Amino acid sequence: MKHISLLGATGSIGEQTLDVIRQHPDKFLLKAMTFGRNVDKAIPIIEQFQPEFVGCLDEETYHTLKEQCTYDVKMAIGDEANIVAATYEGVDVVVNALVGSVGLVPTLKAIEQKKTIALANKETLVTAGHIVKEYAKKYDVPLLPVDSEHSAIFQCLQGEQAKNIERLIVTASGGSFRDKKRTELEGVTVEEALNHPNWSMGAKITIDSATMMNKGLEVIEAHWLFDIPYDRIDVLLHKESIIHSMVEFHDKSVMAQLGTPDMRVPIQYALTYPDRAPLTEAKSLNLWEIGQLNFQKADFDRYRCLHFAYESGKIGGTMPAVLNAANEVAVDAFLKGKVTFLQIEELIEKALIRHHVMTKPSLQDIHEVDKDTRDFVQSILT
Ligand code: MG
Repeated sequence: MKHISLLGATGSIGEQTLDVIRQHPDKFLLKAMTFGRNVDKAIPIIEQFQPEFVGCLDEETYHTLKEQCTYDVKMAIGDEANIVAATYEGVDVVVNALVGSVGLVPTLKAIEQKKTIALANKETLVTAGHIVKEYAKKYDVPLLPVDSEHSAIFQCLQGEQAKNIERLIVTASGGSFRDKKRTELEGVTVEEALNHPNWSMGAKITIDSATMMNKGLEVIEAHWLFDIPYDRIDVLLHKESIIHSMVEFHDKSVMAQLGTPDMRVPIQYALTYPDRAPLTEAKSLNLWEIGQLNFQKADFDRYRCLHFAYESGKIGGTMPAVLNAANEVAVDAFLKGKVTFLQIEELIEKALIRHHVMTKPSLQDIHEVDKDTRDFVQSILT
């Protein structure tokens, strides 16, 4: 029986993680969880799973929760709550499904407590890859990818040796505007951007898919997770999202992991690893139903954010933290109707140009750069 702590339980990955736990009551027990403010979604989860600990974002949510909870549960508020859940006694695996750079510190604290990390929070590795890797090595803790692309690469690498990898091929659906030319992106709306063709995900990541920043962040994550330089990580447009990513070895043999797009598959693999378990309701892949798979080279002029991500990753140091922070503020502004779709990349570019990179930043440096970048992008917005 694996005892699980789930950070970000009411988000898209959180809900699908709960679905996996629900299917295997003999294998998994939800011991601790955190969520933001969505108390209406959280209460049925808490009642069903009865975790020992629940964390939420603010006082108001806390009080509503306290009133409505039918059993005696330990609670905490704010960033501290994520740390309590991440280090909770008796927990074996921490599923970090938080959105944004708030995910970093809980990951590090969990590693210190030797918890296995199932990582869905991209920002952890993007903003502080060098620190996270150092921690994981020092405490000998496995970092298991939850994201479909990294899980695919991870699965392709089972039984293989890292020294034999020639290149990683990260596939990308191209997001909601993949059939539009750059000139057609001028007047696109938030609703159009939120309409992802293949995957059901949260709002931030769906916009990131449309700009391809999501793929850019995944390239940076792949660099850290698998220790491969950027010039040996390719992005391949594959609109059916059936091949979740591939690994080419030195002998030019290519391994691919395939399946119908269903996030519960990589989530469950991270939880059962190195074992596997049945996943009922998941659809079998019938390639005859799909008929054909399409591939296209990723165009850096069309997808500027992908270009920014590669450049930031190669420069390293604090640059990826700037990329990420500027993107978070810009996407939020787009979702609120304050800027246009193409202005997202303009804001990010301004933040990157302005930044003087620090190599080997400390956690404190990263926090400061993150805040400074957010303030800067906000200041252009207002
Ligand atoms: Mg992904």
